[in-house]
Order: sequence, then structure tokens, then C-alpha cells
Amino acid sequence: MSESRRPLIAANWKMHHLRQDASRYCRELLRGFPPEIAADVVIFPSFTLLVTVAEGLAGSSVAWGGQDLHTEPKGAFTGDISGEQLADLGCSWVLCGHSERRRDHGESDEAVGRKAATARHFGLKPMICIGETAEERRAGATQEVLERQFRAAVAQRPEPFALAYEPVWAIGTGETATPEMAQSTHAFLRTLAARVLGETASDGLRILYGGSVKPANAASLIVQKDIDGFLVGGAGLDPGSFSGIIGSSGPGL
Ligand code: PEP
Repeated sequence: MSESRRPLIAANWKMHHLRQDASRYCRELLRGFPPEIAADVVIFPSFTLLVTVAEGLAGSSVAWGGQDLHTEPKGAFTGDISGEQLADLGCSWVLCGHSERRRDHGESDEAVGRKAATARHFGLKPMICIGETAEERRAGATQEVLERQFRAAVAQRPEPFALAYEPVWAIGTGETATPEMAQSTHAFLRTLAARVLGETASDGLRILYGGSVKPANAASLIVQKDIDGFLVGGAGLDPGSFSGIIGSSGPGL
């Protein structure tokens, strides 16, 4: 395994928290957070909380990022946010193609690829989310869907990026993929990445699992060969449970 695959653990706050909660969260997360932690940690707050989080995490090893960005660098796009604006707030990462954006905002595979490329243009690392729905899995189309989403997302080679495999049926449902099921899909994705990007890029690619990860199931998932971290929703809203998940990924917390 490539050394660049240091565990990466991310919390997606979605549309939760106010400024006071965000400040308290940062204080509690950083309390006792060892500098030698064996994982990279990222928080994805709402846009309105980015300044608060940037202040709360300043000087720590925890990074922050935006939950979305526009495909275009700037322009007349009311209500949207640009990669440059995120970079201006000290973001290092940005989520691209979360299933809730694909579902609620009609983001196409192609748009996700353009977002990932725009992110790189502004020095942000895209965390590209892909995943099949329950119907697609039942229809035996999981690999076909993931391959289509992956090829479109990386069409413009937005390296370095991280890939988050998030089966839609496991997001916010309490239903987690078993470690074996997740590992087999991650192994498929790594082989696919080797075909599309080459062996070296595939070997160094961090593939995160997302979908109802909790402190209780994180350890059994992270030991899988091709699982390099987590994108966490619900359990990432509380600094205590998020720390528990981070702690499961290696010595440190
Ligand atoms: C997510 O939305 O990215 C996610 C994985 O959510 P949850 O952990 O709540 O399933």
C-alpha cells in the first residue's frame, strides 16, 4: 500500500449547527487532540459556518472544506459559491457530487467532473462522492453505476483527490454496508482507478467509505485493505462520537 494512503476521516455537517455550536464543537474536538494523530481529519460545515470553523481550528492539524462549489470560477450564479471563495476562507477540501446534491439539485455526473476540475484550479482537493441507490444494487447495476460516476468525475484528472464510496441506501439510514461488502466494492474501485488513472495513482488513492459509520462499526471497516477512511454524516455532528471514529483509525485519540 502506498504511504500516501494515510487514513482520512471527514465529517459532513450538512445543514446542521449554528455558530455557537460550531465554536463549541471545535473546542471539544481539539481538546486532547494529539499532534501525532495518525490520520488526516477534515470538517465540512455549512458555508455560513466556515469562518467560525476556520477560527476554531486555526493552528491545529484539522482541515476544513466546503460542501459544494460551482462549476464556474465566478459569475451571475445567485446562491452559489465558487472555489476561489472557498480557498479564500482557508478551505483545503471540497465535497463534489454528494448524493444529496445529485438527488436534490440534479447534479449530473458530468457536472461533478467539472466541479472537481474547478476545485483543483483553485488549489482545493476534491472529495468526490459516488454511490449506488438501493434499486441500482437490487438490479445488479452497482459496478456499472460506480464506473459511470467515477469516469465522469475524474475525466479532467483532478489529482490529488479522494474518493468517497457512499452507497445511497446506507446514508442516514443506520444501515451500514458490512465490512466485506464495503471491501469488495472498494477493491473494485481501486481496480477501476488503475485502469482509468494508472497503477501508481490507484495505489495512492484514498478511498473512503460513507454510510452510517459510527464509533461502534468504524474499527471493523477501517481494517479492510482498501478502506482508507470515512466520510461521516450523523455521527460527525457530535465531537465525542467523531473523535471515537477518528480513534478507531489508528493510534492517537
Ligand atoms: C453522508 O451524508 O455523507 C453520510 C455518510 O451520512 P451518514 O453518516 O449519516 O450516513
